[in-house]
Amino acid sequence: MISATFAPEADHITELRRQLSRFVAEKMPREKRREWDVNHTWPRDLFREIADMGLIGLTIPEDYGGLGQDLMAATAVLEELQQGGPFVTGPFIHAAFYGGMNISENGSAAQKAAMLPKIAAGEMLLCYGLSEPDVGGDLASVGTTAVRREGRIVINGAKRWCTGADWSDYIYCLARSGEKEERHRNLSFLLIPTDAPGVSMRPIEHSNLRYTASMDVHFDDVELDDSAIVGGPEKWNQGWGMLAGRALDVEKIEITAVAFGTARAAVEEAWQYAQEREQFGRPIAQHQAIAHKLITARTKLQAARHMLYHGAWLADQGRPCAIETSMAKLFVADTGVEIALICQQVMGAYALSDAYDMDRHVRDLLGMPIVGGSSDMQKNNLAKMMRL
Ligand SMILES: Cc1cc2nc3c(=O)[nH]c(=O)nc-3n(C[C@H](O)[C@H](O)[C@H](O)COP(=O)(O)OP(=O)(O)OC[C@H]3O[C@@H](n4cnc5c(N)ncnc54)[C@H](O)[C@@H]3O)c2cc1C
Repeated sequence: MISATFAPEADHITELRRQLSRFVAEKMPREKRREWDVNHTWPRDLFREIADMGLIGLTIPEDYGGLGQDLMAATAVLEELQQGGPFVTGPFIHAAFYGGMNISENGSAAQKAAMLPKIAAGEMLLCYGLSEPDVGGDLASVGTTAVRREGRIVINGAKRWCTGADWSDYIYCLARSGEKEERHRNLSFLLIPTDAPGVSMRPIEHSNLRYTASMDVHFDDVELDDSAIVGGPEKWNQGWGMLAGRALDVEKIEITAVAFGTARAAVEEAWQYAQEREQFGRPIAQHQAIAHKLITARTKLQAARHMLYHGAWLADQGRPCAIETSMAKLFVADTGVEIALICQQVMGAYALSDAYDMDRHVRDLLGMPIVGGSSDMQKNNLAKMMRL
């Protein structure tokens, strides 16, 4: 009906969309989506199918078993999978982005050789250990410590919201590896096996992105060797730099694609509902108040699409895009909340029932300005980048 992108889309991406749209329609019906949401779980068999299609390889160089990085295609995959909710998108992100993208960008030669082929094959998953009980947006103040002692690294502390720690192989963990006063210059990223002695965890109940329970993780004298340092021993205390650059730009695109995909699913559901639901002798879409709401939501969605794919295109081309990807995250997350609330109004009582997906779309979209760098933090970062 309206054009999906501002330029003709590459044929292989159009074909991917076609395949994934059929995949979602056939294999992720509403009853299943509701079941996964209620049980905080994701379908291992469907993730296996996505891995077998080679799609995790869209963030991984060919030398390591990937398809070569294709960020426009990877973004489209997230958008299309998200039409079935976060239940396959979630684990796909743990593989392709937390794993594939970060290890491709920041891993040592040995880590790339050992991990990327397994990640590309869907046989290895990573989760993020950034947040802590006392640390949200202010990541430079993490309190989890990593101390080098007689050739070993000893880790102590706690991570909060470590989503997927209970089924991932490694925690991609930000730790303080020197004096607290140094702040940005004494941080390191570590790959902590989730089954290492001294790692314990318990689930946290939450209302959004319920493809899994999130986890509180504790490290009690967890001992690793130098091979656990992301990038190798020479990257000790260089962790802050890994939070910036291309991996971060792609990270912002990835969470923006989830927000956009959810907003698209919300608009589609409200759009269809308004044509089927009749009140006062006609479909509610024919009442001007509802038609205006739907047109407003669709227009906001189109603006969000342009922000997302422009950022993805810049990142894909290897062009500087820190500002555009921050703006995209900010705009799409905040606009997604507006879209959620509009679509919820259109569907009246049924937006609050479990007969439709709208309740989940609203829960997921309300969380988008918080997760993956809050809207306030994006504004702070943009003000700094634009020298205000
Ligand atoms: C479902 C879910 C899954 C998650 N998964 C993960 C995960 O896998 N790994 C992980 O590490 N984390 C994860 N998180 C945590 C998420 O990244 C944090 O919630 C996020 O970083 C924000 O931190 P906070 O909620 O503690 O907010 P805080 O940092 O405490 O901020 C609270 C509010 O104050 C505002 N604020 C704070 N500082 C400033 C400032 N300087 N200027 C202006 N405003 C400010 C914020 O924008 C926010 O609105 C997850 C969270 C959820 C809900």
